[in-house]
Amino acid sequence: TEEMLHRQDKLAAVGQLAAGVAHEIRNPLTSMKGYTEFLQLDEMDENRLEYLEIILDEIDRVNQIVEEFLQLAKPQSLTLETKNIVPIIQNILSLTEFDARKKNVTLELFCSHDVILVNCDENRIKQVFINFIKNGMEAMPDGGDIKVKVERKEEAVQISIIDTGMGMRPEQIRRLGEPFFTTKKSGNGLGLMISFKIIENHLGKVLIESEVNEGTVFNIVLPLKRVEAICKGSNEKTGVILSE
Ligand code: ADP
Ligand code: MG
Repeated sequence: TEEMLHRQDKLAAVGQLAAGVAHEIRNPLTSMKGYTEFLQLDEMDENRLEYLEIILDEIDRVNQIVEEFLQLAKPQSLTLETKNIVPIIQNILSLTEFDARKKNVTLELFCSHDVILVNCDENRIKQVFINFIKNGMEAMPDGGDIKVKVERKEEAVQISIIDTGMGMRPEQIRRLGEPFFTTKKSGNGLGLMISFKIIENHLGKVLIESEVNEGTVFNIVLPLKRVEAICKGSNEKTGVILSE
């Protein structure tokens, strides 16, 4: 079955919240951090020093969450330029290669063309694919294979990230992109929300296929750089399609 979910409303609300609150949170955090570092200079027993370390780590965590929310608050800052997506994907693979090797994961790239032009914000797109690849690695705690396939379709390019990890049940798939939905001990459940948002801003779509204990495929479809496609795209509803 195929289900179309429009997340714009939810995301817009989260974005507004971020814009309003993030700065307010950041300022007190900065002074909390400063004073905690100041306390560390005092003579005290190890236990207390460790408590201060914990406080600093937690402050960093809150900072990171605020940072990620801030990115949602400024979706307009997307700068679309005509780019060849192929070397961008190749670059992402070399950026994640080191991490992959550490985790016993092999990354393989399959590419149908040398040049596929899309209108994109290169940095945001990199962020998106790094997120998907990281999630793939985290779904395979004992290592495995991740295949990245780049295929040119008639009016779009489809980039698939295929892992052989733990997979997801349909209830889990339905919750993807929900703020703070995570099944990981140290996850924050913001990666996919931000990635889906960025893809929507590119007039793209995400299709998800997953099977428990078999693996997961995230298919990201981005429109090709074509004048007609852009004109039509701006009137089109975009969304995240979850196929089960
Ligand atoms: P986080 O990685 O911090 O948990 P994400 O938004 O990136 O947050 O992902 C949310 C959740 O979606 C994950 O906790 C996991 O349950 C699920 N998920 C995402 N990608 C995969 C994948 N490739 N395989 C299995 N589960 C996944
Ligand atoms: Mg993640």
